[in-house]
Order: sequence, then structure tokens, then C-alpha cells
Amino acid sequence: MHRKAFINRSVLALMATITGRKALFSQQESTQKNYKPMDFEVAIIGGASAGLSAAMALGRSIRKTIVIDGGSPRNKPAPHAHNIFTRDGTPPLELLDIAKAQLKPYTTVTFKTGKVISANLNNNLITLTTDSNETFTVRRLILATGLTDVLPAIKGFRELWGTKIVHCPYCHGYELKDQPVGILMNGKNAEHITPMVFNLNKSIHIFTNGRMEFSEQFLKWTNKQNIRITETEVDELADVADGVQVRLKDGSSYLVTGIYSKGDKYKFHNELAVQLGCKLSEEGAVQVDDMFSTTVPGVYAAGDLAHASAHQVIIAAAGGAKAGMACNNSLTMEDYEHAQ
Ligand SMILES: Cc1cc2nc3c(=O)[nH]c(=O)nc-3n(C[C@H](O)[C@H](O)[C@H](O)COP(=O)(O)OP(=O)(O)OC[C@H]3O[C@@H](n4cnc5c(N)ncnc54)[C@H](O)[C@@H]3O)c2cc1C
Repeated sequence: MHRKAFINRSVLALMATITGRKALFSQQESTQKNYKPMDFEVAIIGGASAGLSAAMALGRSIRKTIVIDGGSPRNKPAPHAHNIFTRDGTPPLELLDIAKAQLKPYTTVTFKTGKVISANLNNNLITLTTDSNETFTVRRLILATGLTDVLPAIKGFRELWGTKIVHCPYCHGYELKDQPVGILMNGKNAEHITPMVFNLNKSIHIFTNGRMEFSEQFLKWTNKQNIRITETEVDELADVADGVQVRLKDGSSYLVTGIYSKGDKYKFHNELAVQLGCKLSEEGAVQVDDMFSTTVPGVYAAGDLAHASAHQVIIAAAGGAKAGMACNNSLTMEDYEHAQ
């Protein structure tokens, strides 16, 4: 028999066994408390851009999949998400609602709200435990848990994060274009973003919040472009009608329409990957190959968790789709080998 036809037949035979044993899972969030081993073939931890995209590939492959999500996507504070193919300007939570609605026809995908707190690998099966003490044993795992931006402890910063304080010209730069903007960054971060922002805004004020650390080349360039640099420490960022009032510790203050800044660091949600023994990059992202396999067989990672930069909704979704496909392929081939 042709190899492809054989694989298809194996998958169908497997599904017939499964569906004959019990009804397929409903799309409703399950209230079942103690799942039996192998109730699901795949678990996806994190149900945002990367996780829901992986779920689409798996749902379309009729894989019994559970998506467990804590409900805090990284871009939740932003009113709109941009630079997204076909969905530019959609509110972040609406994007996820659309994704969930489009997963509805795929009845092998189940959703659960909660946090997975532990993961153990034993005999090629992965057992997960949630914060409500439920356990699931699955054959494959996709980690799509993202990261947290650890925000600086400047008064007013947290309240304005995602609205008037933005981190990415691709996500929010166009909306601020031609306005006077601040860049609250120092060193390499400021040197990287300022020329990009200059493409959109000619009135730029850099606040280094302490002694500046810039190359001569950058200082020459900023001087030529009339970009102002202030080293005085920032006391407060106040939300005012026309933008943000940057209040400095020496009592002076400046009004800008918006501010580019970023967290002090990324806290990658890599705890489960660490428990399973997955290798991390220097920054703490989970190391993956081209198909989003981690260094531990059967465990995949996608989205912001799996790379240190270029964090975007569409890139996370693309990674999730690839991880879902790789996961399905790996299950298919394993069943094919075992059927010999
Ligand atoms: C303020 C802001 C605005 C942004 N705006 C844009 C934009 O306009 N356009 C754009 O393309 N990108 C934007 N981004 C980047 C974008 O948010 C990320 O690239 C994208 O959210 C990554 O998706 P993800 O699925 O990898 O992770 P996330 O969206 O962070 O989702 C991870 C999910 O996993 C869940 N989770 C974590 N740990 C666990 C656990 N142990 N158990 C269960 N669930 C868990 C979380 O609750 C969360 O729901 C923005 C980022 C920020 C900070």
C-alpha cells in the first residue's frame, strides 16, 4: 500500500478506537476533575497566539488536545494589536476570541482555565498537574507560556504600559508618528530603537534616567538630528490629557505624546521547560529547532517563550502552527512505526 495512504488509515483506525470508547470531548470547558491517563494526546500550555494557533493544526488533525491557559496574554494592556496580517488594529483579547470561535468546529480540542504548575516525563508520557490539583497524562506537550515584561519601578510606568508607554515601533509606532515622543532608554537599547523611531518622528527626547552610555557615533548622530538627551533621573510619568508629563528628580518636566520604553528584563515562563530538562538560551528562552522541538523529545515550545527577540503576535502564531504540525507528524509516525 502507498505509504501516505497507510499513515492516513492508521490515524483513522486510531480515531475509530478512541471515538468508539467514549464520546469526543465537547468544546465546553470541562468540569471533569481527575482525567485518566491518555484522555488527551496533546496538551498545549498557554492559550494565546502561539497556543491557539497550535490548537488549530491539531484540531484539524483530529488530535485529542487540551489547551490550558492562565488568561494573561502579554499584550493584554494594549487597546489594539497591530502589524498582524488580516487583523491589523484588533483588540488583543478579541483576537483570541476569534481564534477560539474558529476552533469550535474542531471538537477534539478542549479548553481549560488554570495554571499548570508541574510537568514530569516518564516512559515517554508527560504528566501535568494544575494549580487546582488536576492531572493529565499526554503523549506530546507544546509550551506556549510566553513571558512577562519586568517593568521599571518608576511611578506611573505600570499604569501607562501598553497605552502611552509602548515598546515597539511596529506595534504602535504608526499611531504616534509625527508627534513629539520620549525614549526612556539608555545604552544599546536606545541606540537600536532611536533611528527606527526617527523614521516616524522628528521630535525626539531621550531620557536615560541616569548617566548616559552611548557610543560616539550615536552621540554625533543624535546631535545632527537635534535629538535631545537628558540624564536626570525620572521621578514620575504622569498621565495628562495631551500625553505623558515626564517629571524629573530636579523638578523639571517635559510633555510628550507618548514614550518608547521597555521592561528592565524579560521573565520567560520557562519553569515547566526547566522541570522537563529542556535547554534554554542565555536569555532564558527555550531552545528549539526549525520545527519548534525542544531538546527533550516530545516537548515543543513556541511563541515568545521560544525566542529572545522579534516578539510579535503573527510570529508567535506562525511558531504555534509549526509546532502543532510537528507534533501531529511525530504522533503519526510513532503510530506508523508501532503498527509495523
Ligand atoms: C504592551 C504590549 C503590546 C504589544 N502589542 C503588540 C502588537 O500590537 N502587535 C504584535 O504583533 N505584538 C504585540 N506585542 C507582542 C505580543 O504580545 C507577543 O508577541 C504575543 O503575545 C506572544 O504570544 P504568545 O502566545 O507567545 O504568549 P502570550 O500572549 O504571552 O500568552 C501566553 C499565555 O500563556 C499563559 N500561561 C503562562 N504560564 C502558564 C502556565 N503555567 N499554565 C497555563 N497557562 C500559562 C498566560 O496566562 C498567557 O495567556 C505586544 C506586547 C506588549 C507587552
